[in-house]
Amino acid sequence: MANQDSAPHWLSITGKALPHLDLPNGMPGRCRNIKDFEFLNHLGEGTYGVVHRAHDHKTSKIVALKQVRIFDSDRGNGIPITALREISILKSLRHNNVVNVLDVAVGTELDDVYMVMEYAEQDLANLLDHAKVKYSESEIKCLMKQLLEGLEYLHKHDIIHRDIKMSNLLLTAKGVLKIADFGMAREYSPRPLTPGVVTVWYRAPELLLSANRYTTAVDLWSAGCIMGELIIQLPLLPGESELEQFALIVKLLGSPSDKIWPKMRLLPGIYDRGRTAVTEEAPVGTGRARYIPPPIGAQRENMLERRLVGQTKETIRLINEMLTFDPERRISAGDALRQRYFTRDMPPPQRPELIQTFPEIRNEEKGVGGAETGLKRKGKEAGGYVFDFGDDFGVRKRHRQLERRD
Ligand code: AMP
Repeated sequence: MANQDSAPHWLSITGKALPHLDLPNGMPGRCRNIKDFEFLNHLGEGTYGVVHRAHDHKTSKIVALKQVRIFDSDRGNGIPITALREISILKSLRHNNVVNVLDVAVGTELDDVYMVMEYAEQDLANLLDHAKVKYSESEIKCLMKQLLEGLEYLHKHDIIHRDIKMSNLLLTAKGVLKIADFGMAREYSPRPLTPGVVTVWYRAPELLLSANRYTTAVDLWSAGCIMGELIIQLPLLPGESELEQFALIVKLLGSPSDKIWPKMRLLPGIYDRGRTAVTEEAPVGTGRARYIPPPIGAQRENMLERRLVGQTKETIRLINEMLTFDPERRISAGDALRQRYFTRDMPPPQRPELIQTFPEIRNEEKGVGGAETGLKRKGKEAGGYVFDFGDDFGVRKRHRQLERRD
């Protein structure tokens, strides 16, 4: 068993062996041996690692093993600091709505480093896209309550998740929602942070306008997008580029003015990655970037009520509070949980254990990329995958963006 005495030489962040695995914040001094686990099937893939379902021979439990992805540029430098950060953040947290990291398991090769996590039977992206699940009002309330409770906990501990999206929200067979994938997470810092975080559909307007000082409010914007998506069963703001994303936000919520977002003018603007032809200097696919000043003017009306037709006033109010342009005025997770939507509005949140359950579709085809089962893989884009969801193509494809963290 790999332990403090027999740690492989690469289990280091400096390239030199760490004699006593003195790893950051709450990371275990001892690692499990990967041979203790039997790999069952592939569950999914995030930016920083492939996730497998596995049987733990020691505990006889089913777990999820997330393999740490070693980028070629990192080889020779030991475990990437980004992976250590993810493990360290997750090990320091303990909440019912945050996925629990049980151990770290290692083998003899640099590629054999795994986070051993509690297993969740589903993720919300699969349920919505694949099983075409339609949640009732009280079920959506139950899911949003759990998401906001998880976020409230993270934010109290100064952690910004920075990648809240459907595929990072896991659901256990008992209806417990778990926030997962802390590959992009950071401790809040008043120092500049990378603005190019959060999958574009769920990205807050201050990030789209390249703010490098931002707060936990970015996660609340994403939560607002999640709530809208659970209601309409389609992504609320499915932009193809940063530029289109901002345009979709304006179309839905109206143009931000100086009055509603006084500091917007101080932000640099949209960093266009060249996916959309906006000028001759940045034709399609060149990857050339340019800054575009924030668009002001144009549309006045907020169309949210019309888009979410038939929803209660409290539902619209809460989404509007989360989708508030000015991050300083955006509602916090704690305040959202105290809204009438949760406390008074009918129906009350469903109990987690009574939420609809579905077969574990991800495990149906053993070993062949469970999360992608039944989806046509359309191609690779920006180092990630784009899935073709058939008829809804153009609306329901989920980008896996490979963006390096700061
Ligand atoms: P991640 O890299 O953490 O985003 O994980 C990629 C995918 O793997 C997710 O979208 C889930 O489908 C799956 N996954 C991640 N963690 C778990 C877990 N603890 N239990 C079950 N599935 C998981």
